Amino acid sequence: MKGMISVISIGPGSNDWIPPAVLHSLEQADILVGYRTYLDLIKDFRPDIPREYSGMRQETERVEQAIRLALSGRHVAVISGGDAGIYGMAGLVIEKVSRSGHDAEIEVTVLPGISALNAAASLLGAPLMNDFAVISLSDYLTPLDTILDRVSAAAQAGFVLCLYNPRSSVRSVPYERTLEILNQFLPPDTPVGIVKDAFRPAQAVSCVRLAELPDQEIRMNCILIVGNAETRILNGRMVTPRGYTEGKAGSWG
Ligand code: SAH
Repeated sequence: MKGMISVISIGPGSNDWIPPAVLHSLEQADILVGYRTYLDLIKDFRPDIPREYSGMRQETERVEQAIRLALSGRHVAVISGGDAGIYGMAGLVIEKVSRSGHDAEIEVTVLPGISALNAAASLLGAPLMNDFAVISLSDYLTPLDTILDRVSAAAQAGFVLCLYNPRSSVRSVPYERTLEILNQFLPPDTPVGIVKDAFRPAQAVSCVRLAELPDQEIRMNCILIVGNAETRILNGRMVTPRGYTEGKAGSWG
């Protein structure tokens, strides 16, 4: 009997933002595997189903366990926060199944969801209406110099920036160095959206200027959206205009 691993995206927080197709896949699963915080977010959903909890940074063990369970013929749901394909579990599952040599025995499906950037953009207004770059400031798996080079290139190229994993209690250097780079290339009045705990009970949304960023409390439960030269704050909402109001014809809906 062929085993299955569904890599499930549960969105940014509240279960209201889990797509019906993802809920349907959860209905079909025999066992849920995931980081405790994410499994707790869906604790009221199918409380009957077995759950295998794991801690942060135990991603490899989590996937190995999912593979073992799938090889016994079960349908395993690997739970990922936000979108499973954006700094989530999808890549590791595909890599590990492929390296295990069990590709033929395990069917892997990735189900998309709402990432922190979609959630944050909607809460802030419409900051991502034009080209943007997404960078994680975590130097756990990516060298710090690579991260800073990307921040620098993206800021100079005029991208709006979405910054994931901005700062933790033990990791503040990438954030501080990022602020230095942003201040080098962007004016101090550049709008910066800060969204903390999007679509969770502790949600907090604010929009400040780049010069005010050092005074803000930034942690791992935040995503930052740094505007570009076109980004404005209109009625308290952050908007990067696409140019329609200047009379240009648009090509997207
Ligand atoms: N796969 C997830 C990202 C995991 S990396 C996704 O698609 O959203 C973890 C980082 O995502 C956090 O440090 C934070 O920067 C961001 N994040 C995830 N959920 C968030 C939320 N509800 N509110 C604000 N930021 C969030």
